[in-house]
Amino acid sequence: MTSHEAGKVILVVIDGLGLTTAVREMGFLEGLVAAGAARRRTVTSVLPSLSRPAYESIMTGLAPADHGITSNYVIRRSEFRSIFTEARAAGRVTAAVAFSWFAELANGLPFDPVDDRELDDGPGPIQHGRFYLMTPFPDPEVYWMAERMVRRCAPDLLLVHPMACDYVGHESGGESVPYRRAAALSDDLLAQRVPGWREAGYRVIVTADHGMCADGFHGGTEPAVREVPFYLIDPPEGVDWSDDTPPADQRAVAPTVLRLMGLDPAPSMTAPSLI
Ligand SMILES: [Zn+2]
Repeated sequence: MTSHEAGKVILVVIDGLGLTTAVREMGFLEGLVAAGAARRRTVTSVLPSLSRPAYESIMTGLAPADHGITSNYVIRRSEFRSIFTEARAAGRVTAAVAFSWFAELANGLPFDPVDDRELDDGPGPIQHGRFYLMTPFPDPEVYWMAERMVRRCAPDLLLVHPMACDYVGHESGGESVPYRRAAALSDDLLAQRVPGWREAGYRVIVTADHGMCADGFHGGTEPAVREVPFYLIDPPEGVDWSDDTPPADQRAVAPTVLRLMGLDPAPSMTAPSLI
């Protein structure tokens, strides 16, 4: 019997994964939904639908217009409370296997490509980290490092951030065969890890920062770039989302993560939790 009393969460943010492709290609996750072990609803990405603004929104529950990270080129540390600051303040162990921009936002700058790529029990909001800097970075490596993090640190909150869907989507387009294959690979990598994570008492969220348009970019308002999936594996009682459930605001991700951990959202996280 799996227990969630510890309130441990693994938040998987698949960079550039749009809703339509997730539903079409991610048979493992959709199988969990069909079996009643997970629920899915649509999340609408913040604007601009770009990575660094959305990373900050996922962490803080604020829109770019409010947190100020309005471009990939606004490069500074977050000024707001986040899922990581709140977890650390509650004495929980935090970790991330992610692109270096997450480290810059959460833990600060400068980010040295050599010295800062491995972080063990640091003082910042992300306590343990493995960070990569090259966007053609293979997803299997990300999931293997995530598994290593689970076994080594047993974090209460682990961010897992694979990049292949975004990279391949920019190269080949959001309706291309390589993009669909990247989503299918991420699903298969999840299929290899999620059963063990559930056994270890984690609730797992799988979502994305933004999607990808057919022509291979994102940033604007069309559904292909704004509609992303939000899977919640082993949802608590009362979560009965279906295809008829209206889309949720991406600002709701942060308070939802904290609620799943048994923690109160920060006062700045004004979007209602999804649970
Ligand atoms: Zn991108």
